Amino acid sequence: MEQNVTRLYEEFESQVRLSNPAADFERMRRAFEFADSLHAGQTRRDGSPYITHPLATAAIVAELGLDDDSLIAALLHDCIEDTATTHADVEKLFGRDVADIVDGVTKLTRVQYTSKEEEQMENLRKMLMAMARDIRVILIKIADRLHNMRTMEYQTPEKQREKSRETMEIYAPIAHRLGMQRIKWELEDLSLYFLDTVAYQEIKQGLEGRERENAGFFRRTENRIREHLRDGNCECEVYGRVKHIYSIYRKMMAQNKTFQEILDLYAFRVVVDSIAECFHALGHIHELFNPIPGKFKDYITLPKPNGYQSIHTSVIGDGGIPLEVQIRTWEMHQQAEYGVAAHWKYKRGLERVEGEEKFAWIRRLLESQQESDPQEFVQALKTDMFADEVFVFTPKGDVVNLPAGATPIDFAYGIHSAVGNSMTGAIVNGRIVPYSHALQNGDIVEVLTSKSSKGPSRDWLNIIKSPEARNKIRQWFKKEKREENILHGRVSFESELRRNNLTLADFLRDDVLTKALKKLAYPTADDFYAAIGYGGMSAQKAVNKIRDDIQIAVKTRKTEEKSELPAPRPVPRGKPVSGVVVEGLDNCLVKFARCCTPVPGDSIIGFITRGYGVSVHRGDCQNYIKSRSNPEESGRWISVEWANGESDVFSASLSVAFIRRAGAILDVTNAVAGLKIRMTQMSAREDGNVTSVHMTLSVKNSDELGALISRLQNLEGALEIRRTEA
Ligand code: MN
Repeated sequence: MEQNVTRLYEEFESQVRLSNPAADFERMRRAFEFADSLHAGQTRRDGSPYITHPLATAAIVAELGLDDDSLIAALLHDCIEDTATTHADVEKLFGRDVADIVDGVTKLTRVQYTSKEEEQMENLRKMLMAMARDIRVILIKIADRLHNMRTMEYQTPEKQREKSRETMEIYAPIAHRLGMQRIKWELEDLSLYFLDTVAYQEIKQGLEGRERENAGFFRRTENRIREHLRDGNCECEVYGRVKHIYSIYRKMMAQNKTFQEILDLYAFRVVVDSIAECFHALGHIHELFNPIPGKFKDYITLPKPNGYQSIHTSVIGDGGIPLEVQIRTWEMHQQAEYGVAAHWKYKRGLERVEGEEKFAWIRRLLESQQESDPQEFVQALKTDMFADEVFVFTPKGDVVNLPAGATPIDFAYGIHSAVGNSMTGAIVNGRIVPYSHALQNGDIVEVLTSKSSKGPSRDWLNIIKSPEARNKIRQWFKKEKREENILHGRVSFESELRRNNLTLADFLRDDVLTKALKKLAYPTADDFYAAIGYGGMSAQKAVNKIRDDIQIAVKTRKTEEKSELPAPRPVPRGKPVSGVVVEGLDNCLVKFARCCTPVPGDSIIGFITRGYGVSVHRGDCQNYIKSRSNPEESGRWISVEWANGESDVFSASLSVAFIRRAGAILDVTNAVAGLKIRMTQMSAREDGNVTSVHMTLSVKNSDELGALISRLQNLEGALEIRRTEA
């Protein structure tokens, strides 16, 4: 067995010697021996020594033409994951770069996948690429996966399906994005084999059948194209191939066709020296074979997003067999086959292609660096790949894509504004972190929330990175302010109504409200209050606009109520008692109702109580208004009036609301004292930005009370003054 491994290593070494004779073979052998000793005793499922896997992975990496460090890292790629070796051990022996690459591959290996919707898959792919930081990590990971897929037959059926799905959804698309067609195709075909074996076999056998039918087709067509182009003075290479199985499978699925109905199974590549010759060659091919209309695509002028360039055309070949021809330069060919890895493999030729269309984001990198030294190139890739994005996990394994430097606050708002607004802390990878913590690729982020959270802080706006979070936090503040605005607006509107002898209840009646809001041009009462609150509408102007309508409605209602209710019982006039004359009753017991505390000057009404004489209420007392519509009580109300020249004092209560400010309560008590009115009781409370004072006073009459009310109304910040129950 040991001898077998040594032989495998020597094969690998001679393979590297062919493509990279200047490699450090001494260091490479040390890496192999180190890995071999670490994996000693471990075997793969097929029974072979474990080291054969890293060795095969390194061989794939060597095919891509990567540098020494990549080859050594590929040999060591499972050491940290599967043996007791650490980053520090690898660094001591093979340097920081190799250790970082091995560490990167290990991190990717540890990412857990769950099958998700396509958008999640795209984020997962981006996250893997971002986590890799160094493109070599991704390339080694892809090589690792390719070898695992090639040897998947030894795994359990569950494992085969799981890994195949992952390969199809994650690794093949990444290979495609990096422009590595060959590896992408192989990954797809291997995955398809395990995911839909029946279809795979059917296509494979179908292709073999076609090949028998069309024996010699490839060689014949290749020769015809080559000779025709050479006659036209166009030097070229021509390669024919059958399209890969998964691409045929996908076409069958998408177009709902059987294998027999799929015609374009053959593809020919024509590789020439320059772009000018590409178009030249296209003309010659259209001379040779009839083109199929609508099948021509120029990816040279407009490259695919992954940088792919070629001219595609479909033609009818010999024997009426349709075929696709792809025309490209050598440079484009290397790029299409090896993608980003082509940089290492063909770096010597790079000066030649300056100015030509290249793999888009790599071209940007190259433009920013005059010297396309591989070391510098790698450095640039390390910093440039998704440098402006960060990908993190929710505790459930969903990937969230955020701007680089994003904080847990950005994450919380990325989940939902309600999560952000009730956030009270964050846990990253199991540890509590401050709000300003910068998230790293692959972090698992959990947001702590509480219903009693006071909402976002304005300071958050200084540390967050995503415009989304910024908008949501601003919206929250606007909305919060809106509530303050509504509160203030309503209070001043109500106060203005009272100055016009109207109440908020009059305004809020169904028959008034809709019409009034329409007239004022606000969709809801809250919008209207909010507008008054922030000063967009004056309460006075608003009341002026709608006063008549409200008054008419109130009058109509009063008339209706009057006609429905019996009038107070007319009684003959009697003598005054306690300053009140009760019509038709002499010397009856009179007391003043505590609910509305009438004072001389107020309009009053009497209620004949059961055994306690007449209780005197104000004409606008809510209890009176309620009671008179009660048929059992309505007949007990009688007319009363104030006797003249009375010198008694009466108790009255006031409620004063004003915008919270220092000294406001003192101003209220000073106003009371200034009129020499005695205050018998006072309480104050605060509700948001509004302070309410409630007080009970001893006054001679309603004039005295009116004087106090007008003084209070002139106080700074006064919102509303209202007579209340005691
Ligand atoms: Mn591996």
